[in-house]
Amino acid sequence: MNILLVEDSATLRFGLETYLASEGHTPLTAENGEKAVQMVENETIDMILMDVEMPGLNGFETTKLIRENNQDSWIPIIFVTSKSDETSVEEGIAAGGDDYLIKPVSKVILLAKIRAMERIANMRNEMRQLNIELTKLSEHDGLTQLLNRRTFDERARETWRMASRTKQPLAILLFDIDYFKKYNDTYGHQAGDDCIRLIAQTIKKCCHRPGDIVARYGGEEFIVLLPNTDLKGAQHVAETLRSAIEQKKLEHTASDEHHVVTVSVGGCVIKYTTGTNIEDIIACADEALYRCKSGGRNTTDVSMFKNLHDVLHIDCSVQPSNQLQGLLEQHCKLELVDSEHSLNRLSPLYAPKLVVLSVEHAEDPSLVVFKKLRDKLRLNVVPLLLMSSLEHSKLQLIGKSLAANGSIQTPLEKHSTIAKIDQYIGSRYVTP
Ligand code: GH3
Ligand code: MG
Ligand code: MG
Ligand code: MG
Repeated sequence: MNILLVEDSATLRFGLETYLASEGHTPLTAENGEKAVQMVENETIDMILMDVEMPGLNGFETTKLIRENNQDSWIPIIFVTSKSDETSVEEGIAAGGDDYLIKPVSKVILLAKIRAMERIANMRNEMRQLNIELTKLSEHDGLTQLLNRRTFDERARETWRMASRTKQPLAILLFDIDYFKKYNDTYGHQAGDDCIRLIAQTIKKCCHRPGDIVARYGGEEFIVLLPNTDLKGAQHVAETLRSAIEQKKLEHTASDEHHVVTVSVGGCVIKYTTGTNIEDIIACADEALYRCKSGGRNTTDVSMFKNLHDVLHIDCSVQPSNQLQGLLEQHCKLELVDSEHSLNRLSPLYAPKLVVLSVEHAEDPSLVVFKKLRDKLRLNVVPLLLMSSLEHSKLQLIGKSLAANGSIQTPLEKHSTIAKIDQYIGSRYVTP
């Protein structure tokens, strides 16, 4: 054992050092408390024999400091001191000491105490090791050694929060083995298990970026979370994995089309995570997986998550523009009201997250329709953006009279328009 001797008297230090070495230990020495604290930081120390009366930090203070600095680990500390009063013993144990010996200490007793303390330390270490193994077991799936679903849920939530903070995209991929019931029926359950294991390894190998989370999500279903990954990246990973599994050429004669084991992969990518939750994204990936299954299997389907929040566009001009519709198609649900008549279509419970009002002059029919709609749907609590080619000052006047939140200039510019809309329907918009 590496035993640190903290002792200001050189004679005592030397005597103990020699004795401990002769008993097969490795003594290290510190002549004061400050040095002892430093050595605990920098060396591997298994036990400390601590003097109490020393210049500078005394033994109790030194012990307190060591305990404070090393809250996750425990080093046995035995005081060896001439302070024999009861109060001192009490103080020493309260400071974090484990035993208290009065000088002069017989060598036999010292060695016995060291042995007893060593036994406790060993038991503690074994328990720690066991705990680490138990945690590992409880976090992983026994068959594949991938994370289990519960742990996936926990880690995914952390990653989700991080993505919200850093405003980064995030992708979820769901894998399901094709015709796996038939595989079990043909080759037996044991072979089925081997197959699951092989697929798990293949997925794991392909998702090697440090933040990637791969888990067994159900029987023969796997889930992958890819932080900071956009649509192109997620599609690439999904296809790489699908193809890697097909390339394993694991015979599956009962698979209707392919005669080898294949997987279907449904995926969903979200640009900003705030305002939605991970369950929405998983549900979206699950729908995509379902599309793969009905579309012949051994395919991938990865798309952007559509914000389900509605945008209501009011444009009652003779030829309403469909440019906004085109821009937002992949982004959210857009409802177009192009006449007073189409108002009737909307239920009084319809609650858009944002209203975009096309307006080109002060008598624009869209304005009349907007005002009616505002009363019917209580739209005055919903943010309003004007969409117009009018010059800024004229538009500002109309905007002021309607208490609009802002405007979008036509012809529309893709990125700035989406960014503007996102301020209100995305997550980053907090309803006042
Ligand atoms: P599909 O292509 O539509 O996915 O068809 P499928 O037969 O794979 O249908 P489904 O995904 O519903 O079937 C899952 C089957 O996977 C059911 C079950 O027998 C099998 N399975 C689930 N877990 C295990 C497992 O741990 N080991 C083995 N051997 N089989 C499993
Ligand atoms: Mg001393
Ligand atoms: Mg399944
Ligand atoms: Mg299946």
